[in-house]
Amino acid sequence: MSVGQSIRKSIPFFTEDECAAALFAAKWSEGFRCPRCAHSRYYDVSSRGRRLFECRSCSHQTSLTAGTVFEGTRTPLTKWFTAMYLMQFGISAVLLAEWIQVTYKTAWLINHKLRHAIGERDQDRPLGGNLQLLGEYYGYEYHRYFSDKLAQGELKPQPIVIGASLDETGEVVQLKMKAVDGPEGDCVPGSGSSEGDEAMELFLQNHAANRRESDHLEVLKRSHRGRKEPHLAWLGVVRWLAWTFGGIGPKHLQAYLNEYCFRYMYGSRALPALIANVVTTRTITYRSLVGARSGIRPIRWAFRRPVRSRQQAG
Ligand SMILES: [Zn+2]
Repeated sequence: MSVGQSIRKSIPFFTEDECAAALFAAKWSEGFRCPRCAHSRYYDVSSRGRRLFECRSCSHQTSLTAGTVFEGTRTPLTKWFTAMYLMQFGISAVLLAEWIQVTYKTAWLINHKLRHAIGERDQDRPLGGNLQLLGEYYGYEYHRYFSDKLAQGELKPQPIVIGASLDETGEVVQLKMKAVDGPEGDCVPGSGSSEGDEAMELFLQNHAANRRESDHLEVLKRSHRGRKEPHLAWLGVVRWLAWTFGGIGPKHLQAYLNEYCFRYMYGSRALPALIANVVTTRTITYRSLVGARSGIRPIRWAFRRPVRSRQQAG
């Protein structure tokens, strides 16, 4: 049986009611709460075929999808749930579009909205405890457009910091891979350069707030001998990006790195973890995903170059 066939066979069948019940349970795990006044009782009302919850105290109407990644969607929840289920296999929008019978653009948007929820919640969970850090470069392997630019010197390999929290037995319990902006010099941790040390400090400040001074910090070398888990995870993500997407360009790279780390950490618990993420994350529009002010951007090296003014009209 091919991998495709075995995945297809394992997709659970969701009904719209089952999805709604799962969403209710994730959103209001201790029962309904009015988002305006926190009252716990509601009237079940429906408007134009949409189920609404009307607060018995303040009459505020809310829906299951309000304030979640699904807000405003016209795609049935069954398709969203199948997409969330399939995300644990890291599939492309092309394949997703075929599986849930939507256009490529809708599938692309669904995958990116889910990645947005993963990225947002990842920010709330800084690394802590004993850490291993590894600096690497993403060279746009297999992405012809960007690898040509790389060859012509118009683009430089993207430095990435991989950070792993270890438990007492040395197992990785949390993993982050973050693009660092400023590819001048050898700016990955462990390279021995001052840029490398700065990149490491910045990563620790932004992503390892739970770390105490007494926690052990090991900065790994990029050597292929004595590979540790962060090395293997990096090899894994580069292979996934190459095989599934033919490489990824710089703009959305961070979103894909976040998705990979999420899958790596949650494994078979990825679906409930993803549902918990999507109900607590406000949605993002197609426009802000593709626009210049996209939330998906690498960390700026604020101390090297002034951060460009992000003040814009509107
Ligand atoms: Zn209320």
